[in-house]
Amino acid sequence: MKKVAVIPGDGIGPEVIGAALDVIEKAAPKTFEFESVAMGGNAIDKYGEPLPAESLRICQNADATLLGAVGGPKWDNQPPELRPERGLLGVRKGLGVFANIRPAKIFAPLASACPLRKDIAEKGIDFVIIRELTGGIYFGKHEAFTTPDGEKAARDVMEYTEHEIRRIAHVAFKTAMGRRKIVTSIDKANILTVSRLWREVVEDVAKEYPEVKLNHLYVDNASMQLIRVPNEFDVIVTENTFGDILSDEASQIVGSIGMIPSASLGEGNQGLYEPIHGSAPDIAGQDKANPIGTILAGAMMLRYSFGMTNEADRIEHAVDEVLKDGLRTPDIFTEGTKLITGSKMRDEIISRL
Ligand code: NAD
Repeated sequence: MKKVAVIPGDGIGPEVIGAALDVIEKAAPKTFEFESVAMGGNAIDKYGEPLPAESLRICQNADATLLGAVGGPKWDNQPPELRPERGLLGVRKGLGVFANIRPAKIFAPLASACPLRKDIAEKGIDFVIIRELTGGIYFGKHEAFTTPDGEKAARDVMEYTEHEIRRIAHVAFKTAMGRRKIVTSIDKANILTVSRLWREVVEDVAKEYPEVKLNHLYVDNASMQLIRVPNEFDVIVTENTFGDILSDEASQIVGSIGMIPSASLGEGNQGLYEPIHGSAPDIAGQDKANPIGTILAGAMMLRYSFGMTNEADRIEHAVDEVLKDGLRTPDIFTEGTKLITGSKMRDEIISRL
């Protein structure tokens, strides 16, 4: 049996994880041993910390980790080291997953949910954002201090080493080799020293992939081009913070945030798989959460960590079929389609496997 650590998390996390595990079990029966792990707000309540050492150990010993989402208003006023999101950063760092892969693809049946002009959406949207995940400002030094004249101040440090940039650039170029062979590297090299190093290293790595066309965009321009000409993007590579923001923009372009999976990979086959959304406390416990993002994260896990291409294809196909049949959770509902609950969405996907 292959071992998968499962972090249900908080809010809608357990709902969407439950659905994904049922779908995986149907697509690949008796293949996985799932071990549930406490992390996030639930771990704070139970163990007084967002990522107990035992939880991280289980994830590190597993072949892959599947995560729902963590956080919620209950823990918003905790000190920074005791916030659920700290657990998330700890798992990423502890697993050494430095490359976050987020596909942004428009599902044909959901084209009408795309907020962009029809003529833009019709050109098709199918790109991948490769976000550096364990460096940059989120992992730099964070400080709140008082200036000599008594004013409150704060500082967060953005730092990247050449090695960190080089390895994420390789992931981007390799991904592009299996796609349309265009890499767009996004930075702010007109202002940030870190970005100038980023650009220099990406250009150097590009020499090893002569078939791939490399473009550079400043992040402010990129945020505009993503809604103006999304069809022109193939593989986007960017640092942690820019990637965080642009991937949320991309999620809106292709429909709901509830639809998008992500994979975070390190040097080996071990990976962390999760939907891109948060714990959605506003809809938790109401059976309204769209489980598709987590189900597709499960498919990515089968594909990237276990090489189970056939099973992954079948899950993705079943999701396509359900959407073609007009079934929609509230977040993707439009007139003329059929509104269903999150658990019904799970059942419908399973019945098409
Ligand atoms: P969110 O993604 O939880 O929710 C944003 C909006 O999208 C909400 O209206 C929500 O109802 C909707 N939504 C999200 N997922 C959905 C789904 N599967 N189906 C239908 N609708 C969905 O982001 P937020 O509101 O900014 O954050 C809520 C909490 O989640 C916060 O505590 C935040 O820190 C945490 N968070 C966790 C992660 C993670 O665990 N990876 C990521 C982002 C935010």
